[in-house]
Amino acid sequence: MKNVVLLGSTGSIGTSTLKVVEDFPDRLRLIGLAAGTNATLLTEQAAKHPVVMVAIHDETKRAELEKSVAGRCPVVSGPAGLIQLATLPEADIVLIAIVGTGGLQPALAAIRAGKDIAVASKEILVMAGELVMREARLHGVRVLAVDSEHSAIFQCLDGKPPETVRHLWLTASGGPFRKTPKEAFPEITLAQALKHPSWIMGRKITIDSATLFNKGLEMIEARWLFDIGMERVKVVVHPQSIIHSMVEFVDGSWLAQLSSPDMCLPIQVALCYPERPANPRVQTNLAKIGSLTFEEPDEDRFPALGLARRAGEIGGTLPAVFNAANEIAVERFCSGTLRFHEIAEWVARVMERHSVVENPSLAEILQADAWARNG
Ligand code: NDP
Repeated sequence: MKNVVLLGSTGSIGTSTLKVVEDFPDRLRLIGLAAGTNATLLTEQAAKHPVVMVAIHDETKRAELEKSVAGRCPVVSGPAGLIQLATLPEADIVLIAIVGTGGLQPALAAIRAGKDIAVASKEILVMAGELVMREARLHGVRVLAVDSEHSAIFQCLDGKPPETVRHLWLTASGGPFRKTPKEAFPEITLAQALKHPSWIMGRKITIDSATLFNKGLEMIEARWLFDIGMERVKVVVHPQSIIHSMVEFVDGSWLAQLSSPDMCLPIQVALCYPERPANPRVQTNLAKIGSLTFEEPDEDRFPALGLARRAGEIGGTLPAVFNAANEIAVERFCSGTLRFHEIAEWVARVMERHSVVENPSLAEILQADAWARNG
């Protein structure tokens, strides 16, 4: 039986994680839950699981949450509350599915407390991949990928070392504008950008999938998770989203992981690792799917990939700046003050102005993050 703490329980990954835990009552026990502001759903979730603590980021919701959990377990709040939850003595694994950068400090705290972490929040490894992986090695804990692409690579690698790899191939659906001509990009609306062809996800990652910034973030995430130089991390467009990613080995052999798109599967792989228990939830019918196709990504229409490669190759504080500038640009696009094609232009400008700090400490990473948001 594994005791699981879940940060971001009310979101898209969070609610899928609850389904997976409920699929395995004899293997997984949810003992801690955290959300940003949604006290109502958090209370409902806490009532169904043997939680020993709940956390809410929004301090103003704490009293409401205390009232609704009615003394069943302690309630904590704010950034310190998240850290308290992530380091619960009873926890074996902490799954982090908070949108944005709020997951970084709880992730480091969990690692230092000797917990395995399962990472959905890609911002953690993009901002501080070197630091997080170094701390994980130091404390002898696992960093397990929840992102479907990284879960696929993890399953294909199956413990083989980086020197056996020629390339890691991240697949990208291409998003809703795969075939849209560049001239039409300035007219793209928020409603159009929020329609993803294959996945139902939170708002931020859906916009990132439309700009391909999501794939850029994943390139940097893969670089750290699998200890592979950026030049060996490649992207191929695969509109059916059946192959979740691939490994090309040095002998020329490729391994791929396939399934119909459902985030419950990579979540299960991470939470149950190293076991692979049976679950009928995900079924894939290849004959019905018919064909799997591949295309070269168009870096002219989608500059996010080139910007990510640059951020990952230069390293230091630049990936944190890449991530933060994109978050601000997405917020501005959502509020109507930036047009779709201006998201990448915004990020490129902020990256250009940044003075990179090499081998940064956590404080320097957080400073660079704040600079990119205010700059
Ligand atoms: P959602 O927007 O659906 O959910 C975000 C969750 O984080 C909510 O539970 C929200 O709470 C909570 N939250 C936000 N800020 C805080 C905070 N400061 N402290 C505590 N909780 C907070 O996002 P997704 O589930 O789509 O994505 C989560 C992460 O997983 C992202 O980093 C994304 O890139 C990554 N990811 C998502 C995938 C997907 O399929 N959705 C696939 C792969 C990776 P509340 O509801 O109260 O606001």
